[in-house]
Amino acid sequence: NKRTKIKFLLDSNKIGDSVTVMGWVRTKRSNKSVSFIALNDGSVIDNLQLVAAPDVVGEDTLKKISTGACIKASGDLVASQGAGQATELMVTSLEVLGEADPEKYPLQPKRHSLEFLREIAHLRMRTNTFGAVFRVRHALAFAVHQYFNNKGFFYIHTPIITASDAEGAGETFKVTTLDLKNPPLTEEGHINFKEDFFERETNLTVSGQLEGELAAMALSEIYTFGPTFRAENSNTTRHLAEFWMIEPEMAFFDAEDNQDLAEDFLKSIISYAMEHCKEDLEFLDKRAEEENNKKPTNERSELGLLERLKFVVEHDFERLTYTEAIEILRNSKPNKKKKFNYLIEDWGADLQSEHERFLVEKHFKKPVILTDYPKDIKAFYMKQNEDGKTVAAMDILFPGIGEIVGGSQREESLQKLTSRMEEMDISPEELHWYLDTRRFGSTPHAGFGLGFERMVQFVTGMGNIRDVIAFPRTPGNAEF
Ligand code: ATP
Ligand code: MG
Ligand code: MG
Ligand code: MG
Repeated sequence: NKRTKIKFLLDSNKIGDSVTVMGWVRTKRSNKSVSFIALNDGSVIDNLQLVAAPDVVGEDTLKKISTGACIKASGDLVASQGAGQATELMVTSLEVLGEADPEKYPLQPKRHSLEFLREIAHLRMRTNTFGAVFRVRHALAFAVHQYFNNKGFFYIHTPIITASDAEGAGETFKVTTLDLKNPPLTEEGHINFKEDFFERETNLTVSGQLEGELAAMALSEIYTFGPTFRAENSNTTRHLAEFWMIEPEMAFFDAEDNQDLAEDFLKSIISYAMEHCKEDLEFLDKRAEEENNKKPTNERSELGLLERLKFVVEHDFERLTYTEAIEILRNSKPNKKKKFNYLIEDWGADLQSEHERFLVEKHFKKPVILTDYPKDIKAFYMKQNEDGKTVAAMDILFPGIGEIVGGSQREESLQKLTSRMEEMDISPEELHWYLDTRRFGSTPHAGFGLGFERMVQFVTGMGNIRDVIAFPRTPGNAEF
């Protein structure tokens, strides 16, 4: 296969070379003597301009080419006559690999709405916007692995099917091999999961953390990066039923070490994308600016996409406790326009995303690490603080996103952990394997979870989480 990727070809820009390219036609403009075809192969946002004369490549071949068709073209790279790109391809032979009926092909050379493109998620990656988003997503995923590899962390694969929902993070998807239309029943009339493949009720994982902790208590520093499933019926722009989570877990880390690592990690992967996805981010920056200008003046963000990324990378995150945040929210004025009162009456209530975004976007105007939440709104495994009321939790809040990371130092004392579990009605017997890490060679340790799609949203400026994963799983949406 002598195909040259358009990205490599434009990067090296060797005028005079003979090359073969393959890709999908974005546009074709023809006059009597020549056709100009804009070709994209997904390797880069730019199209390569092909110049094809009917007497060279054949009138019939040219007729079969329309937007969406897949073609193979060979020819010589020449200096471009027009403005824009430096090179174009003078075509000597042209082959149509797959036609696209112009009457039926849904993508036209114009900007479609994101809502429309969500309905054709199987084709939307052929647009500039989605091409850019998925190249940036790839770069961020690569940066995650590179970051942890450089720090000596090991990549652990935690199970997708599990019997534990110890996290209590959300509703689970059940997994069973039983015929639920006609299930085997126990004497009491319940479904008899003893006859199932796993001989008990199982579900898709909501988080790899508990298993990640076991790995950290052996390999010191590990991370997971895998799919996570939550059957939450929340139609928001920040929640998916299937999303990818990055969960580092570190033995010998306390809460502050955990915050330092999280901040450095987030900045580092954003910097990687800024450095390696320049053209895509410039495109997305313009796009975000157009979207921003459509909003009413008071809702527009002050910084453009690239400015925001640069700002986050260059400034310290604000760190404060939940209790301090509540004080700020108590003393803030209600937002009359949105009819939302930022006031939280009671210490102990969980923050809503409006509160989070107020702190980040209006009050501090930078990312915030909120620590030491009331124990009753956090999971059982978080380290209990000496005040008896709070735990060593941290949430990291980002502009435009709200919560992007949730983490904590974990409770390392067996006695404190089991008594907290009993208070919360979680059976220590069922989690005997988890508690063994506290029973045998326990040590302080900490970790956090980054919702990958929320990070991709932040870096690409896409407002809806459905637009940063190729095939979003949301209520009622599982076909493609
Ligand atoms: P939220 O408060 O936004 O519902 P959470 O507190 O329930 O999030 P955690 O259990 O702390 O979420 O999960 C860790 C991270 O995973 C979150 O900080 C967020 O970035 C991401 N996340 C959680 N739920 C979802 C979801 N349904 N879709 C996409 N990302 C999610
Ligand atoms: Mg949630
Ligand atoms: Mg939360
Ligand atoms: Mg959380």
